[in-house]
Amino acid sequence: MTEERETLEADVLFVGGGPACLAGAIRLAQLVKDNGIELEDGIFVVEKAAEVGNHQLSGAILDPRALTELLPDWEKLDPPPPFEADVAGERMYYLTQGGKIRMPLPPPMQNHGNKVTSLNKLTKWLGEIAEKNEIEVLAGFPAAEILWDGTRVVGVQTGDQGIGHDGKNKANFEPGTNIKAKVTIFGEGSRGSLTKKLVAKLGLDAGCNPQIYSTGVKEVWEVPEGRIAPGDVIHTAGWPIDWETFGGSFIYGMDKNHVSLGFVVSLDAPDPFLDPHRKFQEWKSHPLVKGIIEGGKLVRYGAKTIPEGGWYSIPRPWFDGGMLVGDSAGFLNMSRLKGIHLAMKSGMLAAETAIEALEKKDPSAKVTEGYQRRLDESWLKKELYRVRNFRQPFQRGFLTGAFFAGLGTVTFGLLPWGRWTLESDHERMRKLPDAERRLAAREPDESQPEMSIKGDGTLIYDKLTDVYNSETNHEEDQPCHLVVADTDVCHNRCTYEYGNPCQYFCPANVYEMLKAEAEPAGGGDEAADGSAAAATATATSAPPRTLKINFSNCVHCKTCDIRDPYQIITWVTPEGGGGPNYTGL
Ligand SMILES: Cc1cc2nc3c(=O)[nH]c(=O)nc-3n(C[C@H](O)[C@H](O)[C@H](O)COP(=O)(O)OP(=O)(O)OC[C@H]3O[C@@H](n4cnc5c(N)ncnc54)[C@H](O)[C@@H]3O)c2cc1C
Repeated sequence: MTEERETLEADVLFVGGGPACLAGAIRLAQLVKDNGIELEDGIFVVEKAAEVGNHQLSGAILDPRALTELLPDWEKLDPPPPFEADVAGERMYYLTQGGKIRMPLPPPMQNHGNKVTSLNKLTKWLGEIAEKNEIEVLAGFPAAEILWDGTRVVGVQTGDQGIGHDGKNKANFEPGTNIKAKVTIFGEGSRGSLTKKLVAKLGLDAGCNPQIYSTGVKEVWEVPEGRIAPGDVIHTAGWPIDWETFGGSFIYGMDKNHVSLGFVVSLDAPDPFLDPHRKFQEWKSHPLVKGIIEGGKLVRYGAKTIPEGGWYSIPRPWFDGGMLVGDSAGFLNMSRLKGIHLAMKSGMLAAETAIEALEKKDPSAKVTEGYQRRLDESWLKKELYRVRNFRQPFQRGFLTGAFFAGLGTVTFGLLPWGRWTLESDHERMRKLPDAERRLAAREPDESQPEMSIKGDGTLIYDKLTDVYNSETNHEEDQPCHLVVADTDVCHNRCTYEYGNPCQYFCPANVYEMLKAEAEPAGGGDEAADGSAAAATATATSAPPRTLKINFSNCVHCKTCDIRDPYQIITWVTPEGGGGPNYTGL
């Protein structure tokens, strides 16, 4: 397109208005003030949600360490940080179907001194502090493209508004803006859409373990008083997850009437029918959970992925013109299910590096490399390095994982030694039994589970009802932001090989495989991959199922971009402001 685009200049641009970038922007503003630096163009944050905080989803228990470094007098601030409660009691159970066994609380899961909060509220609060520090926070502006000068990042282009589903400009068309920055810091959260491109183009993950992810599904419930105390923290492992899948749950008492419930399931699970939403709903029927929420009311729903590979999966987080912070880089401690404090700390260290780049008028890798040194010398690395091999043994089953996690704890991270490798999530998905024969015979597996669990309207909710409770909204007349490179693969190979797992792994009912009307026998078209097996098929010429994408349901969790076994789904930013509204989550 050749539209005239406005250009905006920035000294430092933060991409994403989450805790990583907002803490970074605030730290930068503090350093500018403390060192008497005159900025030429200012500090900018772009956020795709209509309001800062609306796309934030977390447990959330905050380790306040980074917050205390950023704003040492936070307790006296007006308004104070939106904490719901101090962590009071803590328990952990191993669940069987209907039963529970109390387990000793592993040290990484101990939360004494931490705060129960809503990440949505905390992010909004940080956003307000950023604005008070004269940082331009532009909500409703997705960064859609990276601006390059050779291999140097020089900013981003925000998304165009007003393009129809047919790709043509509508009457309200407005081209996105080129925001040119001396330093660009990417903090797009888990599986950032630009971060993914950047890492691939610059080969930042060379020599690293692959990043692996889980999907966290969460509901907030209003419950009768007395069911759970504010600050009560319960974690569970076991049922309804099988031995080969990593995951667990959390129950956090917020105020005296609200409880935050979440279920986290890893996307490296071999089962192609793994459905994190279904597991969560099944878990809610366990007497432990039912006893807390029965008679209560579902208030909110959300889902989001979590990068859980750990230290060895973190790509090189610095490059010519910028840095990666927070979940985008993978700074998350999965043994604690905590990333907010690490995201904030990484943003603050990136800000210190950005100041050096501005002062030296040199944003090249020679200066941004200093970010690595700052990370290596900080408590962030100490925390993550100690659990650097935490997640890997779980790929050999729950018991092996639990054994080595325990060993790591008692030896203060000394064992398991060395660097343990990981397999990437999508490669671990198991093909359906007899996949090759099915493909050759054009015979889909008709014994698949229903694509969404049936709700009972009191305890269990189907995906659509839950999506309604996430207040997700997108302009309907726009190009689909879930780009499938080759739908023939979905209609052919995937149907026979994996049974179209997108219908199950998506926690928002975005992907549907519609059964095609019966076609007369004969013909036999060629498979998308041109495989001989499929080409010899004779049963029917039409695909048995066709893909329908309900993109307006998308809660921006990025599960599809990660778990699709052929890696042909790409999540790109939709029109600004679209997506969930996670108020109170
Ligand atoms: C279910 C669940 C439970 C969790 N529990 C805890 C917990 O109890 N404690 C804890 O510490 N951590 C927890 N975490 C992890 C924690 O939420 C993350 O580590 C933290 O939010 C990371 O912060 P971030 O700023 O890097 O990313 P995010 O918080 O994800 O923020 C990224 C922001 O960037 C925006 N964005 C993305 N792409 C673009 C783009 N291209 N253009 C513009 N904007 C963009 C997004 O809309 C979002 O607002 C949990 C996570 C989940 C999913």
